[in-house]
Amino acid sequence: MTNIDRLLTAVPTRLWIDGAGADPLEGASFPVIDPATGETIAEVADAGGKDALRALDAASRVQDEWAATAPRERSRILRKAWELVIARTEDLALLMTLEMGKTIAESCGEVAYGAEFLRWFSEEAVRIGGRYTEAPSGNGRILVTKEPLGPCLAITPWNFPLAMGTRKIGPALAAGCTMIVKPAEDTPLTMLLLAEIFAEAGLPAGVLSVLPTSDAAAVTGPLIADPRLRKVTFTGSTRVGKLLLEQSAQQVLRTSMELGGNAPFVVFDDADIDAAVAGAMTAKMRNGGEACTAANRILVHNAIREEFTAQLTEKISAMRIGAGYQDGTDLGPLINERQRSAVAGLVDDAVDAGARIRTGGRRVEGPGYFFEPTVLDNIPSDARIVREEIFGPVAAIIGFDSEAEAIATANDTEYGLAAYFYTTNLDRALRVAKALESGMVGVNRGVISDPAAPFGGVKQSGLGSEGGTEGIDEYLTTKYVALPA
Ligand code: ADP
Repeated sequence: MTNIDRLLTAVPTRLWIDGAGADPLEGASFPVIDPATGETIAEVADAGGKDALRALDAASRVQDEWAATAPRERSRILRKAWELVIARTEDLALLMTLEMGKTIAESCGEVAYGAEFLRWFSEEAVRIGGRYTEAPSGNGRILVTKEPLGPCLAITPWNFPLAMGTRKIGPALAAGCTMIVKPAEDTPLTMLLLAEIFAEAGLPAGVLSVLPTSDAAAVTGPLIADPRLRKVTFTGSTRVGKLLLEQSAQQVLRTSMELGGNAPFVVFDDADIDAAVAGAMTAKMRNGGEACTAANRILVHNAIREEFTAQLTEKISAMRIGAGYQDGTDLGPLINERQRSAVAGLVDDAVDAGARIRTGGRRVEGPGYFFEPTVLDNIPSDARIVREEIFGPVAAIIGFDSEAEAIATANDTEYGLAAYFYTTNLDRALRVAKALESGMVGVNRGVISDPAAPFGGVKQSGLGSEGGTEGIDEYLTTKYVALPA
């Protein structure tokens, strides 16, 4: 038996409700596909609305008890879960590569990153504060406490099957909230395995449920409409985020939204070009370009544009395409045909508008959803690729002549998640970091995510922060207790 067979034989495929595997009340299943081959690797239980309400019954039954569990004990369970996830790195990484397509090295990186949210929030669980002051009038005293919100719904995407879950589960559990996770239909297996690991870590039944489904709205709709639910936390497209915000308005739910991005990656003429090329490789090609923080528009000063583009093209054209679990692969497949068609459509549109292909630009023939690593230059400002999230291995290079022009172009988008720039001038670094309309800014760095830092966007990229000391606030509500003087 190969490692893959062994893993797939043991992997949980039932719903996870109230601390145990459960069959859907309406009995169906749906396939999980390996994007490198297009073949089915598992059949997973398909939750419906009634299953969702079973999970919410469990969550609301144990909510008060979990909120009253000593912070130190909540912390201990999260810490134990972190240890167990790290100990299972090999299995979790292979599973993620199988269902999502990224390379094993990248999956191992995600396990370390995703697990870190559990350790970080195990440390935050015991530091939930409040405040106390005397009223300025002298007539009373002000006590401010923080309380867990209550049962939460997390809806996660397929691009980081583990980390997009742990960065929500970690702070929710640390704060004393229960949580129901609806993982993306393309990648439900990693989250089901994580639920088992949490049970092994000692998490009480009902605190965490996981509901894979082929019909997202059938599961999330009844939960959002139920007055017992107190929060929706979502990572995904701006389109679906807006829909969920509308639905959440009915019960005035707290919401956290990590939505789309259109990150600028700006290289000034005083940049260290080798460092900028290395940073662009990471910011563009990490996770096959399937990241909301991915460099979507690479803006390069015209004085160095040809040198930068030539170097980047050389590196990108050398990337080896293959299944993520094959040795030597640098770039795996895209998640599915829909995503591949979307990427191909953006490239074709740019080329029709006058862009030049420096390398790549086409689908790879044969099984799986592979797309060539691509560099496009001379992109006209009205091409769709300038406005829309690419979510694929396509570097779009645009020239500029002045700092003011670079900032104006960078900010000319409805999104504001991540932005990157390269310069060796400190004054410019401080000026540009301030001028960019973006929730996160990387200075001379191609990767910015860190569980200890607040991740979040402005404009149509979202609401709220995940990670950092800010992340736990998303799961706490503020209570003011008025005391006599
Ligand atoms: P993508 O297009 O990259 O798949 P989505 O925003 O569609 O991004 O998906 C992110 C998550 O949102 C997934 O878990 C998906 O199942 C879920 N989702 C999609 N549509 C809806 C919907 N109408 N209601 C609730 N969740 C949804």
